[in-house]
Amino acid sequence: MQHENEPLNPGDEASPDAPGVGEDTCATCRGTGTVDGKQCAMCGGTGKVLQGIGGG
Ligand SMILES: [Zn+2]
Repeated sequence: MQHENEPLNPGDEASPDAPGVGEDTCATCRGTGTVDGKQCAMCGGTGKVLQGIGGG
C-alpha cells in the first residue's frame, strides 16, 4: 500500500503506518537533512528516517 502524501525515503525501513515503527534521526545527515550542502537522499531532507522499534 502506498501513500502519495508521505512517500517513503530510501532510509526508511518500514511504512509509517506499520506497527512498532518510529522516527529516528537519520544517520547519514545526522538529522540535518543535508549532506555537503545537498539534500540528504536517505531521509529526503527530513533529517529523520523510519525504523522498526519493536521486536528488535
Ligand atoms: Zn538524512
